[in-house]
This record gives sequence, structure tokens and C-alpha cells, in this order.
Amino acid sequence: MSRSTAVKPATLPLSKSDGGKAPLKLATQTLMSANNIHKSYRKGTLEVPVLKGVDLEIAEGSFTAIVGQSGSGKSTLLHLLATLDAPDQGEVHFQDRRIDNLPSRQREAIRNQEFGLIFQFYHLLPELSTLENVLVPKMVQDGFFSYLRNKRAYKKRATELIEMVGLGHRMTHRPSEMSGGEMQRTAIARALISEPSIILADEPTGNLDEQNGDEVLDTLNSLRNQENLTVVMVTHDASLAQSADKTIKLVDGRVV
Ligand code: ADP
Ligand code: MG
Repeated sequence: MSRSTAVKPATLPLSKSDGGKAPLKLATQTLMSANNIHKSYRKGTLEVPVLKGVDLEIAEGSFTAIVGQSGSGKSTLLHLLATLDAPDQGEVHFQDRRIDNLPSRQREAIRNQEFGLIFQFYHLLPELSTLENVLVPKMVQDGFFSYLRNKRAYKKRATELIEMVGLGHRMTHRPSEMSGGEMQRTAIARALISEPSIILADEPTGNLDEQNGDEVLDTLNSLRNQENLTVVMVTHDASLAQSADKTIKLVDGRVV
């Protein structure tokens, strides 16, 4: 295992001299894994292999960067992990359960409850405020009456999340009144409203200048610590991967 792929060791209490106050983290558990993933796309009669046997393990609480050149299959891999698409061969496991072959309704339920998805483009609704955009998943998942019943609690949580991503002063702004970085941080708050256990982000800074990109990365990092999240981020920018615990590099459809 090379340096860049080694998971940082779990923090253990160093000595008794700190009065036992050092954080105790137990041995890291695997939250998600992919085994021998193959995926091809059909171009006319031609079958173009994109992933040729990818294995990976995502440790609970870790920040993993998946890097590789444009076209190397990063988005394809992230979509398979998110169960938005199915592999031709191989398996995806989440919390010790195989998920790639579940019926679509069960996959959708896992996505809604456990996965926070973030994409390069923010997919915010232009007519809605920051607060309303963050509440959208709850409106969609809950149904009208259940949403109304729970609305106060949802609003409280949404407000907290918006403050956590540093947008407390943008609560009633619409997307067109915000910077790209602010829009992406709104999308991050939206991804967290259902209390997911893992964030799957595809080039979340890909559309941002360096400063906004750094702010988004800092936001993901601090949320990961505060909310005890696991983060998987796809990026073509190797320098962004520096803040990750572990980097997985895709070359020619394989992890190197
Ligand atoms: P990356 O995210 O690393 O840039 P992608 O996973 O998007 O790479 O794409 C990998 C390869 O698969 C590319 O050659 C791309 O053209 C091809 N590809 C991606 N999605 C599709 C699709 N839906 N149909 C056909 N080819 C696709
Ligand atoms: Mg991509």
C-alpha cells in the first residue's frame, strides 16, 4: 500500500498523562465498499469499457478523494456507489449490506436516508430561497401532511445547517443573488437535511474559482468533523485531494 492510499490510523489515547481526555476512536469500520466493479457503455455496436475491476473500501468517518483525468471513470464510479446506476459485474456494499442489486424503491430509500449527493452544478430551484431549497428533499420525501406536521422541526434543522455552512446571512436569498460558492454551500446544506451518513460529491468545486472552491472544501471538512460524516469526493484536481485521508486514483478503469 502506498503512502497516499493509507488510511490515517485511528486516534488512540496516547498516555494517561492527559487525564484520559484524548478522544477515543475505536478501530475504523468499513462503511461502504466496492468489489470488482466493471462497467461499460455501448457506443453503437461498440462496447467501451470504463471500469475494469475496481475495488475500494470507505472507512467510516474518513474523507476519501477519488482522482483521475477527465474521462477516467470517476463520475461513473460515484454513480455506481450512489446506486444511481448498476455495475455490469461486481458488488457495492453499504453497512454490510449489498445494495447494487436492490429493487429501485429500496435503492431510492437508501439514497434518501443515508446518502447526501452533491454535484458540480448545484441544481437549486431558482424561485426558492436558501431556506426553502434546503427543505426541498423533505417536501419531496414526506408528502404534504407529514411535511406540514414536521415543518417546524425541519425548519429548525435547516436553519442550523445553513448557519453551519456559513450562510446564516443568506437565509432568504435566491440562488441568482448568491455566488457559486454560496450556491454550492446551499446544496451541501440540502444534502445534509436528511441526516445522511455519507456524502458523495462529484467535482463539488469544479465550477468554482480557487477561493470559493477552498471554502466549499473547508465546509465539507468541518461538517465531517461536526456531524461525524464520511465523505467521498471525486475531483480531477489532484491538489484538492491533499486534504483527504485517502486518495484513490483511477487510471484506465483501474485503481492504481
Ligand atoms: P470522469 O468523471 O472521470 O470524467 P466519466 O465517468 O464521466 O469520467 O466517463 C468515463 C467514460 O465513459 C468517458 O469516456 C465517457 O465518455 C463515457 N461515458 C460516461 N457516461 C456515459 C454514458 N451515459 N454513455 C456512454 N458513455 C459514457
Ligand atoms: Mg466526471
